[in-house]
Amino acid sequence: MRKHRQTRKADLRALPAVDAVLRGATGQRAAAQFGRARATAAIRATLAALRAAPPRNLPNAENVAASSLAALEQAEISTLRPVFNLTGTILHTNLGRAVLAEAAVAAATGAMRGAVALEYDLADGGRGERDDHLRALLRELTGAEDATIVNNNAAAVLLVLNTFAAGRDAVVSRGELIEIGGAFRMPEIMARAGARLREVGTTNRTHVKDYAAAIGPNTGLVLKVHTSNYRVEGFTAEVPARDLAALAHKRKTLLAHDLGSGTLADLTRFGLAHEPTVAEAVRDGADLVTFSGDKLLGGPQAGFIVGKRAAIARINRNPMKRALRVDKIRLAAIEATLRLYRDPDRLAELLPTLKFLARPAAEIEAAARRLLPLVALPGYSVAIVPCKSQIGSGALPVETVASAALSIRGEALDRLAARLRALPVPVIGRIERRALLLDLRCLDDEAAFVANLALLSSA
Ligand SMILES: *Cc1c(COP(=O)(O)O)cnc(C)c1O
Repeated sequence: MRKHRQTRKADLRALPAVDAVLRGATGQRAAAQFGRARATAAIRATLAALRAAPPRNLPNAENVAASSLAALEQAEISTLRPVFNLTGTILHTNLGRAVLAEAAVAAATGAMRGAVALEYDLADGGRGERDDHLRALLRELTGAEDATIVNNNAAAVLLVLNTFAAGRDAVVSRGELIEIGGAFRMPEIMARAGARLREVGTTNRTHVKDYAAAIGPNTGLVLKVHTSNYRVEGFTAEVPARDLAALAHKRKTLLAHDLGSGTLADLTRFGLAHEPTVAEAVRDGADLVTFSGDKLLGGPQAGFIVGKRAAIARINRNPMKRALRVDKIRLAAIEATLRLYRDPDRLAELLPTLKFLARPAAEIEAAARRLLPLVALPGYSVAIVPCKSQIGSGALPVETVASAALSIRGEALDRLAARLRALPVPVIGRIERRALLLDLRCLDDEAAFVANLALLSSA
């Protein structure tokens, strides 16, 4: 026992001193890269770990410096980092939804670098409003009288309900009391907004007479929700927005229409099913229409409320609006994104979300054929298979688009998936019927993908 302790003591005395480690070439590099204080702290931590569990052979000063430098570099890697989204879901909520257009990136960068006329009227030098920058554009693109922008569509719905139905009834069809991923449940949002939920109709069928019977002196608004993430099929009936708007107006209340994703473009142009456009919802007579910024619209996270001037003015007087507003960076990105919609012919070229959506399967398959010979995974077989991409984020829920994937088969696919996730730019695919599928629909930079894959560890 005593003898053992003595050897241990002798061993530890052989450990290099902090100063000696720092003076070496690698120690100097660590100090230059991360600052003297952090380099010193990292070396101390490495030495402390060695003292706590001494290895058989103690490392020299350079080894200690190298371990410390590696730890510093590891700590520098962000967990919020770019990935290759090869899941086949174009708007993947967990992967940040829409990829922004270059124009939006440039606009956001510009807004970040300096002061901007955010709430400043450049014409008269007086105070302006942050919504002013987007009002005209949103009016032009949706046909609405006015518009306001908040943090996301959940916030838009919350704000609309709180403004018009706090302490009053919000009339909504049972078939539209939806839950959206990430714990957004319509009844709960209503409660938080202070609105009393007045459910009408049944799960599969709701008629005008159901709404008519529910509207009364306590009605704050009628809410129509686009059931964006599921579809009821069979014996169903819902009241069209146009009829609901007419009823609401006859009964002196208003109609709010939550479109969820909503879109500003006619998706049938891109070979997709029809998704209600914001302009259509406005034309159908809703007083307020709410929709998302980062779903099919292809912009940053945001919530839009467009509609009648008087209704938007009331929303803007709600103090809650202040808590939900967006910053200059996002406003700049939104403006640049919206501008692209002025030329629908070039949308699929300039807006990544639509570019990915509209990419023909044959083109994706051609990419797969280019990549196949470059993707070598020892121990695994790789083939090209047809597959289906989905839009995601609750937009066009049952709609899929034909795509192509690299299909990887072999033992321990979970381990391979983990190795792909551990790459400098993590590659995220999906496992389907005992194959790891890399759906190439959203792959933009093939060369970067190949270079990244070459770094796959053998572990
Ligand atoms: C997605 C969605 C929302 C929430 O929008 P976010 O922008 O994600 O906050 C609200 N309503 C419907 C119908 C939706 O599909």
